[in-house]
Amino acid sequence: MDAPAFDAKRFVRPALLTPQLWFVFMLLMGCSLANAGSLNVAPQSWWVANIGNTGPGPNGGTVEPGGNCESCLQASGGYHWTGVLTFIGNTPFGCQFTRGDGSIQDNGCTVSESIYCPANSTGTTTCTCNSGYQPDPTATSCVPVVTCPTHASGTPCTCDEGYEFDVAGTSCVASCPAHASRPSPGTPCACDAGYQFDAAGTSCIPVQYTLSLSGLGVKVMPKNDLKTAYAEVKKSDGSDGSGVQVNLQLSVVPEEDGYNHAVGQHTAPHDGSLAPLSGATDSNGKLPFVFSAPEAGGIHTITATCANCLNSPVTGTITVPGCEVDDLPPITDPEVQLFEDNPDRSDEARLTDRMKEALACLKRDAAAGSPNVGSAYRPPAYNQHLIDVWEKWIRELKDNEKPACAALKTKIQAHFKTHKLKESQQPVEGSLHTLGEAVDVTISLPPATIDAFWPGCHLYRPPSLRITDPVHFIYR
Ligand SMILES: [Zn+2]
Ligand SMILES: [Zn+2]
Repeated sequence: MDAPAFDAKRFVRPALLTPQLWFVFMLLMGCSLANAGSLNVAPQSWWVANIGNTGPGPNGGTVEPGGNCESCLQASGGYHWTGVLTFIGNTPFGCQFTRGDGSIQDNGCTVSESIYCPANSTGTTTCTCNSGYQPDPTATSCVPVVTCPTHASGTPCTCDEGYEFDVAGTSCVASCPAHASRPSPGTPCACDAGYQFDAAGTSCIPVQYTLSLSGLGVKVMPKNDLKTAYAEVKKSDGSDGSGVQVNLQLSVVPEEDGYNHAVGQHTAPHDGSLAPLSGATDSNGKLPFVFSAPEAGGIHTITATCANCLNSPVTGTITVPGCEVDDLPPITDPEVQLFEDNPDRSDEARLTDRMKEALACLKRDAAAGSPNVGSAYRPPAYNQHLIDVWEKWIRELKDNEKPACAALKTKIQAHFKTHKLKESQQPVEGSLHTLGEAVDVTISLPPATIDAFWPGCHLYRPPSLRITDPVHFIYR
């Protein structure tokens, strides 16, 4: 039996397509771009030489994409054909079989058109990926459909902006915000040093600190050290701000001390020192420092600064008195102030009853000497003031010639005079005046005469005081 007649009409080459058909073809190509599953690759026509089951080649003896006409020649010519195999074009391309005399033969080889799309796609006008496949990013081949996790898309799957793959690479998790990173893969985001999460916990903002100085506002004697002061840093949540760099500065306003500082006299002795002048706060958020007082007086101002501290700078002062003698404690007791305002105040009302009777007796018996009562009852706090004035004057100021102490010397001397204190007569603690059992009475009579009166009035003049304090009477 002869080979089937070659049907020349079926052997349609693209070059033979009419312009109208080309237009439709290109239109379909254009439409394919709009189809999600379509490729930008047009189906390709291949001419297939089919020799049924008789050929020695693979079933059908086809010319596959990437193949060549030799397989067709082998399939056809190897069995029936002696003609020439001609390669036809590229798009599409195929094999044309000719007889030796140039006319088309169909001797033993059935030639038919077949439409080819890229692997895993099908179509006659548009190549569409098969189920389970989708176009690759260039839409030139079909790749297996991969379902991207939440917050991811694309091929291959890419996490959306602001997300990143987890350690397993199977899901997209929120990326760390700016100024944050994961200490190790898979762990929660941690803000970088110097940053902290905002209230919402979603972004890292610079850590805000509060700076303070402690242990200042005190007096440090010349050449002494103050070792209890420190700068302290707290975070906005009140916790300790450790590792925060704090800088310290020291300035001094010299005390007026009689030297002419304008011409450079006595300048350096007013300068104290700080150590350290800067450093990072410790685990408790503190930077301790030592202030070393100079030998001369002045007001020292310590200024602390820190970069992210909301209230930076902060200041504190230390007073170094040019005079090493402390002033008296301020008088705050209103009862003492009464005596301070009127040192001649005679508070007979708070004498004990028996002392009141004894004093009345003495006033009566010594009436000829016009008895004048000076100090009677003294509040203990006032008695202490007298002790303080006496000691301050006698022990620290009377012979102090330092210019820096001149003002205090004048002041204490005034107290000493106001309270009619005597160098020879030291006020003592537990004085019977504070118990209401002593009175100072001036009597203008000879001592011997006075001494004749008091025994009859339950009074007594201590022999040890009769010379130094002749006005002092106690109950007996
Ligand atoms: Zn000075
Ligand atoms: Zn006083």
